[in-house]
Amino acid sequence: MQNIDRLILRLGEMTLKGKNRSRFEKTISEHVRAVLRPYPKAHVRREYGRMYVETGGESVEALIQVLKNVFGIMDIIPVKQTLPQLDDIIAAAVELIGEQQIEQLTTFKVSVKRVWKEFPHSSQDMNHLVGSPVLRAYPLLKVDVRQPEIELRVEIRDGAAYIYSELIPAVGGFPRGSNGKAMLLLSGGIDSPVAGWQSMRRGLEVECIHFHSYPFTSERAKEKVVDLTRVLAGYAGVVKLHVVPFTEIQTAFTTTGQDNLMITLMRRAMLRIATKIAEQQKGLALITGESLGQVASQTLSSMNAIERATELPILRPLVMTGKDEIIQIAKEIGTYNLSILPYEDCCTLFIPKSPTTNPNLRIIEKVESFLELEPMIERAVEQTELMIIEAGSPLQLASATINEDWF
Ligand code: ATP
Ligand code: MG
Repeated sequence: MQNIDRLILRLGEMTLKGKNRSRFEKTISEHVRAVLRPYPKAHVRREYGRMYVETGGESVEALIQVLKNVFGIMDIIPVKQTLPQLDDIIAAAVELIGEQQIEQLTTFKVSVKRVWKEFPHSSQDMNHLVGSPVLRAYPLLKVDVRQPEIELRVEIRDGAAYIYSELIPAVGGFPRGSNGKAMLLLSGGIDSPVAGWQSMRRGLEVECIHFHSYPFTSERAKEKVVDLTRVLAGYAGVVKLHVVPFTEIQTAFTTTGQDNLMITLMRRAMLRIATKIAEQQKGLALITGESLGQVASQTLSSMNAIERATELPILRPLVMTGKDEIIQIAKEIGTYNLSILPYEDCCTLFIPKSPTTNPNLRIIEKVESFLELEPMIERAVEQTELMIIEAGSPLQLASATINEDWF
């Protein structure tokens, strides 16, 4: 993509409504400025109620790559800028269409908007004046004014004309952190990082909580989670990670003689601890990577018994999403390669031979009261380590890949 002078950033419809609009726009423009920091010649501008990035000679591909990941941006339109003169506009239009490399019969239309009324040709005339030379240059183009595959738009203003046609889809969603804060239970698996990213995309500020059972689980398992958090931070700037020592509680559960309830008990303890950390950090919900029916602890009956351990709402972005789709997203957001590294998670280690798919709440509550969990839970919360994970710094585990350009 050569000679693109600016990128128009189109924001989601939702972000444009009501009195939140200016707050949302401000958040998005701050986010855009943050991702553009490695590109000092590029500039963000807000003009005529839209948001632009002046490329300033930076690589357009690189800019699009980072801007695509800014929450709240629906699509990106690369724009050529010329003087508001017929010859210049035609030349730019021909060049712009040339970049789309048309190899088969493609329908096409020109739409001209004349904001600068002194411009000597009417919009009607301009459609022909620009359309004809473009059609001559590209014989595979055919005019269709109703549903064209390519719509070449020309906007003529006082001092400049803008020519564009391509719409590059971006991540969309709500602006970063605009919908409040929730705590993500982040394991080293494939699902929870995806659930975290999806929550961030819907405007949630996400803080991660990881349960670690050293020495049952290795330092590497923890590093893996730090790295996963860092990938998430690539989308948000900074993400907090709370690492909870879970060894004492987990060991206590092994003494109950209720192996098949192990996972249910562990999950409930996790939720209790996460709820306390949420209260401290003013998080209003918990997020998990659970997906209905995926494993024994994710049947409706298990979820039911597990979630009674907290009064906070549990958000499960992936609850109805199949594994293939989750894996696909994990690959796209850059967490997959890390998630499939072998280091054991605390739950995988303690998985019993036949975990129940239909836990009995009364038995569970009895076991819990017998164990006197509360002091152990308090201790775990007290000894929780807080890490502030920033985007950009290198990952610790060698086989991982991350787009260092994000921030
Ligand atoms: P994931 O791929 O996210 O690990 P999973 O399909 O392996 O999910 P489980 O291991 O049953 O599912 O865990 C269900 C959810 O519980 C996870 O998605 C995560 O939100 C939470 N969870 C599990 N283990 C931990 C842990 N060690 N620390 C924090 N959260 C955890
Ligand atoms: Mg798991």
